[in-house]
Amino acid sequence: MGTFSGMIAGGGLVGLTLALALHEKGIKVRVFEAVKEIRPLGVGVNLLPHSVQNLEKLGLLPELEKVAIKTSSLAYYTEDGKTIWREPRGLDAGYDVPQFSIHRGDFHMILLNAARERLGAENIVSGHHFQSFEQDGGGVTAHFTDRETGEAVGTARGDFLVGADGINSRLRQIFYPDEGPPKYSGQMLWRGVTEMEPFLDGRSMFMAGHNDLKLVAYPIRSDSAKRGTSYINWIAERRIPSDLATRSADWNEKGLIEEFKPYFASWNLGWLDINRLFENAISIHKFPMVDRDPVPQWSFGRVTLMGDAAHAMYPNGSNGVSQGVLDAMTFADLMENATDIETTLTAYDDARREATAKISLANRQTGPELVMQMVKDQCPGTCGETHSCIPKDVLEEVATAYKKLAGFDKQTLKSAR
Ligand SMILES: Cc1cc2nc3c(=O)[nH]c(=O)nc-3n(C[C@H](O)[C@H](O)[C@H](O)COP(=O)(O)OP(=O)(O)OC[C@H]3O[C@@H](n4cnc5c(N)ncnc54)[C@H](O)[C@@H]3O)c2cc1C
Repeated sequence: MGTFSGMIAGGGLVGLTLALALHEKGIKVRVFEAVKEIRPLGVGVNLLPHSVQNLEKLGLLPELEKVAIKTSSLAYYTEDGKTIWREPRGLDAGYDVPQFSIHRGDFHMILLNAARERLGAENIVSGHHFQSFEQDGGGVTAHFTDRETGEAVGTARGDFLVGADGINSRLRQIFYPDEGPPKYSGQMLWRGVTEMEPFLDGRSMFMAGHNDLKLVAYPIRSDSAKRGTSYINWIAERRIPSDLATRSADWNEKGLIEEFKPYFASWNLGWLDINRLFENAISIHKFPMVDRDPVPQWSFGRVTLMGDAAHAMYPNGSNGVSQGVLDAMTFADLMENATDIETTLTAYDDARREATAKISLANRQTGPELVMQMVKDQCPGTCGETHSCIPKDVLEEVATAYKKLAGFDKQTLKSAR
């Protein structure tokens, strides 16, 4: 069992996962979160089997199963509903654990409740915005402020500090002061949720369209499924040139239906009423598709970056949260037998930085969604219900290559158990 004690800046999905993983290894840790009250925000996220396998190790599987949807398949379609590619997912694909589609807020609350219960509520400190640090041979001192007033609220000391403070990370800004805001991809996302009748089997995720106009949707709550409806998370994505776009990466910014609905007017998937999906939305948020360039170093002495602070990536491939969970588990595994903090943080950097950089760069080339653009560019429109002009093995190669890159091909996961 380790004897170190650490600090985590950011009580989001990755900060809390790390807190639970370190606690499991007997390492004392405190989480400092900027907001005063941690609330269940956001809409849908996907937990791919490689992260679920790790969340199972933290004993979270029963709670996840209670609230989430066990995703059965992922399919890609054209805007007129022709199938491009369909593959089973999670248990349906023969993995040992499910792939979950889940409300970000539900997942956040599962993590928060477990962290408060296991670490003690006093170790999850809210209203503490990480502002600066100093380190010396004996440890790290972190300084916190009130995010609204900027007034100092406290100082803490530990053996190490992890910045899991999200896409607009303050710690990353200290390391890379000239980096500026996240990079805009040219695509704007409207993220909404709508409760309505299920589509397909009620457990499927789909993506339709191409790089200029896309719709992604998947159900995320099991209590709606029990009532015979689906709580559908959807993302309408439209290309908007840089000079016309709102580009601040603010997860709470509201979106307007007229900004995207007219562009989908001619779409017909057959099995989903897109108009009703948009019109009956419970909430719509607007978020630019942004990421950050890979950086040459995450760990600086006793201080390091994790999750979106380290590798904010485009959502293509649904990998953002899952990669953050892998960061946290890798860090905790290394810390378990650590004798020297600096060496351990360097080992964590070596284990995760390049691997996640490759995924970020693959996502810039649209990741597994490449199959949709291939059809848009190459199909003369003469195919029937299912696309046949691009050979199946070419499409399969795209899907398999991405799974291998992101570490969730079946072989890799089986050998990791
Ligand atoms: C409000 C919100 C809504 C989101 N909604 C979605 C969504 O619908 N779909 C989706 O795919 N992703 C969403 N995300 C992002 C998603 O959670 C992350 O991409 C992913 O989970 C990686 O998690 P993370 O812990 O690294 O970052 P995040 O989950 O973003 O967590 C970062 C945490 O750090 C806190 N923080 C920020 N700065 C400081 C600071 N200086 N000091 C202390 N704490 C700080 C933030 O308040 C936040 O709790 C959302 C994030 C937030 C914050």
